[in-house]
Amino acid sequence: MIGALRGPSFWKGQLAMKALVTGGAGFIGSHLCEALLKRGDEVWIVDNLSTGRFENIAHLEDNSKFHYTIDTILDERVVGEATAKVDVVFHLAAAVGVAYIIDNPLKSLETNIKGTEFVLQAANEGKKKVIVFSTSEIYGKANEQPCKETDDRILGATTIARWGYSSSKAIDEFLALAYHREKQLPVVIVRCFNTCGPRQTGQYGMVIPRFVKQALLNRPITVYGDGKQSRCFGDVSDVVRAVIGLLDEPAANGEVFNVGSDIPISIEELAVKIKELTGSRSPVEYIPYDKAYERGFEDMRRRIPDLTKLRDLIGYEPEVSLEQLLERVVADFRK
Ligand code: UDP
Repeated sequence: MIGALRGPSFWKGQLAMKALVTGGAGFIGSHLCEALLKRGDEVWIVDNLSTGRFENIAHLEDNSKFHYTIDTILDERVVGEATAKVDVVFHLAAAVGVAYIIDNPLKSLETNIKGTEFVLQAANEGKKKVIVFSTSEIYGKANEQPCKETDDRILGATTIARWGYSSSKAIDEFLALAYHREKQLPVVIVRCFNTCGPRQTGQYGMVIPRFVKQALLNRPITVYGDGKQSRCFGDVSDVVRAVIGLLDEPAANGEVFNVGSDIPISIEELAVKIKELTGSRSPVEYIPYDKAYERGFEDMRRRIPDLTKLRDLIGYEPEVSLEQLLERVVADFRK
């Protein structure tokens, strides 16, 4: 029966499926679980709650189609057992956040490389489709914008911890693509560009939850560097929709896709927008990168995804504007 479920009609979403979401108690993972359950799919998660939080999934606990294992993906047995139960794996469990990676370089490399290896090995046992969540950090400090999936990666020295994260995610991509080429494992790689939304925490460095919290508490809004660097912030609901669209599309197998919004805003402008939106009395404070992160820290000035490939394949268009995204985040923090 399971074999029959893996035909094209299954991927077109005509039948409910069984999905494993590693990192399912994280910010993106928990939104993905909700969307899959809403479609009628049955969902298992494995999460060690290192950066994820149980409260992200507490509201799903009573759903008979939702199952969770609080454990690490660095345990091969845990990954093997969870993968054996499902038809498809969404692999999100990873070290995330620039601040987290700088503080925990060893753990970050181990989780990202070894964890992904275990997931791909286990998925390969039953040729289960794997959606590997990657990152725009892959592009490094590339000046050429917007970033296309086939663009060169431009990274700094190995003494700068940030580039270890980028490199570990590149190894994940190489591994996934190698499994696809050599073992015909159906894999799809999604490179997320600054995904934001309710439940994201600023604890590991992410700018929007940090600014919103600072604004609501009338504390200084901490703009790093000169604030002229820009990013495109994508709402998590748009990202989840894109990922599910790719899951349902057999032509996505063995391919890499940028996912997110392609409308940039400078960090300085973002600070002002959040201040206005919350009616905050917070001053905007500029902090040098060396103080914010570590000596020699390198940031990218601009980071814009080229979404052509995603648009062409699944007709994707981001629907949530930055204003709507910020309103959702502010409402979540107020709650
Ligand atoms: N940033 C900032 N203040 C903060 C946190 C981040 O100015 O309190 C900046 C950060 O230096 C970067 C941008 O906001 O230029 C986005 O940071 P984030 O860590 O959210 O994502 P990144 O794009 O760096 O992965």
